[in-house]
Amino acid sequence: IFDKFKEPSLAYLDSAATTQKPQQVIDAITNFYSSEYSNIHRGAYRLSSNATDNYEAVRFKVKDLINSESHKNIIFTRGATEAINLVANSFENYFEEGDVILISTLEHHSNIVPWQLLAERKKLKIKFIDIDENAELILSDYEKKLQKFQPKLVAITYISNAFGTITPIKDIINKAHRSNAVVLVDIAQAVAHKKIDVQEMGVDFAVFSGHKLYGPTGVGVLYAKKQHLDLMQPFMGGGDMISYVGKEGSQWAEIPAKFEAGTPPIAEVIGLGAAIDFVNNIGFENIREVETNLIKDGLSFLSEYKEVTIYGPKDLSNRGSVISFNFSGVHPHDLATIADSFNVQIRAGFHCAMPALHAINLSATARISFGVYSLKQDLIQLGQALNKARSLFHP
Ligand code: PMP
Repeated sequence: IFDKFKEPSLAYLDSAATTQKPQQVIDAITNFYSSEYSNIHRGAYRLSSNATDNYEAVRFKVKDLINSESHKNIIFTRGATEAINLVANSFENYFEEGDVILISTLEHHSNIVPWQLLAERKKLKIKFIDIDENAELILSDYEKKLQKFQPKLVAITYISNAFGTITPIKDIINKAHRSNAVVLVDIAQAVAHKKIDVQEMGVDFAVFSGHKLYGPTGVGVLYAKKQHLDLMQPFMGGGDMISYVGKEGSQWAEIPAKFEAGTPPIAEVIGLGAAIDFVNNIGFENIREVETNLIKDGLSFLSEYKEVTIYGPKDLSNRGSVISFNFSGVHPHDLATIADSFNVQIRAGFHCAMPALHAINLSATARISFGVYSLKQDLIQLGQALNKARSLFHP
């Protein structure tokens, strides 16, 4: 299905950073640009109304993907990062000076920095939930901090990109709600791997990027409960987000258009629609099965190397499709370079999650991550690179 297999020796083990694209996603984008292209929400002509229909149809696909109560709770953004920034700006009036935002130490920088910027603007305080040596949340610390700080908002990831930790999200949300906090969940690392049900979760806000779900870059999603969207100010001003513009001021369009200023990423949204069809056709049970087998194989294969230290949850059911590790005496960047010489693509560094790494006394790890197209052969090829590292650094 994927062009990457035209180069059969390539082992792509960085799907947590971004996924390869199925041919049907590429075809949907190509087809839109080559024969259906037009701007949307504009024309009274056929091309534009067809493009509008195709774009809006994806809103319904996203609604079904995450089981949102309505398509009107789905806002298209340029990515998870923009979606969090949207909330951190548009929801600003919900906060008052001195309020606390509680974040987990596992977060990707995109779920930390927008809150820090907001905290500076509104004089808020940010507190962090601690993690243990397996990169799992310390729930007693969470409960303690909920009680002590009475946060107005809890911002937390469902699956950590750095360590693959799956957080007990339902429990976290329930506890936050009992303490009257709203919850933003970052589902960027979850949405391609697990069936998400925002209503069952009861979450207030959820964000993800299309490019980690086999879709294109440049498109993401914000889900928000209606009661919050009703409170929120526009994020950016411009075309499409207004119902009236006068010299004296403007009135806003209905939700969700109110939050989608300017020409949106039309082709990208259409590509995201094809990506959602792709995962639905495979089915989340099948995806999880393929990936769980790869995680099991990956963990047992890596633990055969005495030089390797594996990080993250020990319990497989708490681990997403990510394995972070180090090879003693070899910097992760060097390991990634050696891997590359065997045509194995792995990630090295702090994975945009410095506080998480620092919390367990790390500055960098090597990381492999799987998509539904990953193969056991990819691990065997990685083994060649690890053998090489061993012979170079531990002769
Ligand atoms: N959250 C998590 C957990 C992520 O892994 C990423 C991407 N690495 C993001 C947020 C940000 O996504 P994007 O850069 O596509 O906005």
